[in-house]
Amino acid sequence: MTRTEPLNLLNLAPAEADARLRAFADEVGQPSYRATQVLRRLWTSPVADFAGITDLPAEFRQQLGEHFTLPRLEIVAQQKSRDGTQKFLFRLRDGQTIETVAIPDGNRVTLCISSQAGCALQCAFCATGAMGFQRNLEVFEIAGQVREMRLLEEPVTVTNIVFMGMGEPMMNWDAVDPVLTILNDPMGLGIGARHITISTVGVLPGIVALSRRPEQFRLAISIHAPSDDLRRELMPINVKYPLSEVIAAAKAFDRRVTFEYVMLGGVNDGEVHALQLAALARECRAFVNLIPLHPGGARGFTPTPQQRMVAFARELRAEGLEVAIRKSRGMDIAAACGQLRVERLGRRPPRSPDEHGDIQVA
Ligand code: SAH
Repeated sequence: MTRTEPLNLLNLAPAEADARLRAFADEVGQPSYRATQVLRRLWTSPVADFAGITDLPAEFRQQLGEHFTLPRLEIVAQQKSRDGTQKFLFRLRDGQTIETVAIPDGNRVTLCISSQAGCALQCAFCATGAMGFQRNLEVFEIAGQVREMRLLEEPVTVTNIVFMGMGEPMMNWDAVDPVLTILNDPMGLGIGARHITISTVGVLPGIVALSRRPEQFRLAISIHAPSDDLRRELMPINVKYPLSEVIAAAKAFDRRVTFEYVMLGGVNDGEVHALQLAALARECRAFVNLIPLHPGGARGFTPTPQQRMVAFARELRAEGLEVAIRKSRGMDIAAACGQLRVERLGRRPPRSPDEHGDIQVA
């Protein structure tokens, strides 16, 4: 072999991993169906290491281990909420930690995954923003969060993916792009494109890149304020990508978009805001998701009372919009927005289960 560094197969889209494995099988005198056997064990029915592919000849397994790697993500904390929500803290090779949340709901399990360690965007109410930007995650570190669910002692069968964990996926598009392929490809994780949602603050080049992909991946945009003045205060990114441009990009996106709107008591939850938001959403036919503020990490903000939230939803519906109020899940384990990591770093005490009950959908 000419290559010296072992190649990480989990950083490659399935078609490329397949090509590499076929070439390798050929080189060491194994039939090409052996490559397919290995490929299936990368994502579809994953193994902890090559030794675990017991239907391969021992010598071939050893050769694979000399030339390729299948790096794991180490789970350093795992918590389960009373409502079934599970939160995982993973430690990466360089000591960075990221979190992943599995949210069961009827027949579905939605996995909320991270795309960066930390985040550079500094949204005023977000705990991840408060810890600053550490680094972009590699392909295998993002898709690996889903892979690890299949490797648990009690595997979690993930049906839906949302890029709503730590980080801004569109600021790490070079990795997120192949990750989408791995998630969706039948030789990868085989999750339907309509069940995969990328959430962004409105990074325009990322929205354009996503719209160029032929698959029906879903786009969610974090709006959070219906005017530039207020949005600039809450989300510094609005200086670079102002609302009018974000709305134009949403309009140009050929599939239905969702607006995310975190409800901040006395800040963005007035009737005037509902009217402004309705005008924006109508312009690009967006579906509006109202999100109860998770208090952890949101310094200086208080959640909008539930009654006001329901009224806000009614005001939007009166304007002809489709609206949902997101259920808050895993409140007793601080399962949102960088909170586990912040908790582990000792920034704030864990919340008691009694302090914050679940808010039901309106
Ligand atoms: N950077 C991307 C994806 C990660 S955040 C984005 O901003 O869209 C996923 C969602 O959680 C975003 O809508 C974000 O604004 C929201 N969020 C952040 N902090 C929150 C908090 N304290 N309570 C409720 N939602 C929050």
